[in-house]
Amino acid sequence: MLEPWLRSNFARLMPLYERFPAPARHVLTSARGWFLAQLRYSPETLAMLKKLRQQESRRPEEIACAQLESLQAAYDHARRSVPFYANYPAIVIRNARDLQALPILERETVRSNQQQLQSGSIAPRHRIRAGTTGTTGANLRVAYTEDLVRSNWAFLLRQWDWAGVQPRHPRVTFFGARIVPASRTEPPYWTHNWPDRQTLMSIFHLSEKTAPAYLAYLSRQKGKILEGFPSVLGILADFVLHAGEPISMRVIFTSGEPLFPEIRAKIEKAFQARVFDSYGMTEYCGLIQECERGGMHLIPEYGYLEILDEENRSCAPGEEGYFVWTGFLNRAMPLIRYRIGDRGRWQPGEACPCGKTFPLVVPTITRESDILHCADGRLFSPRALNQLLKQSSSFRFCQFVHDRPDRVVVRAVPSNGHSGADMMQIRASLQDLLGAEMQVTAEIAAGPLVRPGGKIPLIVNEVPR
Ligand SMILES: [Zn+2]
Repeated sequence: MLEPWLRSNFARLMPLYERFPAPARHVLTSARGWFLAQLRYSPETLAMLKKLRQQESRRPEEIACAQLESLQAAYDHARRSVPFYANYPAIVIRNARDLQALPILERETVRSNQQQLQSGSIAPRHRIRAGTTGTTGANLRVAYTEDLVRSNWAFLLRQWDWAGVQPRHPRVTFFGARIVPASRTEPPYWTHNWPDRQTLMSIFHLSEKTAPAYLAYLSRQKGKILEGFPSVLGILADFVLHAGEPISMRVIFTSGEPLFPEIRAKIEKAFQARVFDSYGMTEYCGLIQECERGGMHLIPEYGYLEILDEENRSCAPGEEGYFVWTGFLNRAMPLIRYRIGDRGRWQPGEACPCGKTFPLVVPTITRESDILHCADGRLFSPRALNQLLKQSSSFRFCQFVHDRPDRVVVRAVPSNGHSGADMMQIRASLQDLLGAEMQVTAEIAAGPLVRPGGKIPLIVNEVPR
């Protein structure tokens, strides 16, 4: 019950949190961590983990059969309890073709029907609300439940198991939490979540100047799990390799962004451990996880994946197309045939040497982006700036154009009914993050800046270095 309340009051609570001294922030982070740990390591989670491990030895036909059952259950639940699907036909899903009779849900449709897509079977006070910006920088508010937090964690722990680590192995985290005030210029740039044996590191304070403090701290964390966004761990790896002394971690988990091979290589070199990547989303409708042999496996208990071409026909193995997901787990906001905007392909050929029969799929999502170099030396990864967009709801695209050494322009492409207030809010948050040395302006644009190959970078860095 705390998580739904906390999530909906984050914006109000943050300024208060930031006024506390570091030791108090550890206590507050740990207090929230204690509640989250109750969900993450609940008896239900651990029972589910056990079941998931057993299910790995199922034959492909058994997996296909179980997927159809889960599809039917998700579909029936959606029709029964979600206004948006009330007029969908009553069908029996016996194969992929039956599913293909249903319409595809575009991201824009989900954005404009966020209320209609909430299930009436979940009381509003049990809904956890979160924002996601996907691949376009356009915000979408999604809902989920504490049940989903439990089961989602079981999937995460299964991948830990593949990597040979046990639940609650200590970890160091570089995701997007704003855990240290932006204006802070001295360590600690981190805070502790003791109940979960986790240290949350700020991804908003990385710079040449602060690097020694980060590295000194990390070198005292050897043997722990390192987890974070690929671009952030990439920046960190550069610092480590530049310093010339690798820091051995136990294993590394990345997610939230495409992991390019050269970034993977330098992270593994800097931290002397294997990277296990995964692809998921805040909509909680699908999951792809890397196994111990480097295969990217579709997780069949999590959601159903179609890969479709421009005409919505199924792609042959090896052929790249759009991911269209039907989630099995999120009962608060079920998404049926949701085209999320990412792309990928089924990997043809032999089964994975790990022995798991889950299909292999290669996400080819390429949210290309530059890194923002602040005048004071701080480096911002695309994911760090992405966090700012999660509160706004009225853009089709939003980009950050670093056009002069001391200036960044928020460049927003509005969707219908946009509010200038949203854009000014983002401008103000970015100004707050970057500090007074940088000038932040905002402008409305008719379309996004597109690079050759159709890629739309989040950060466009035009400053020669
Ligand atoms: Zn495998």
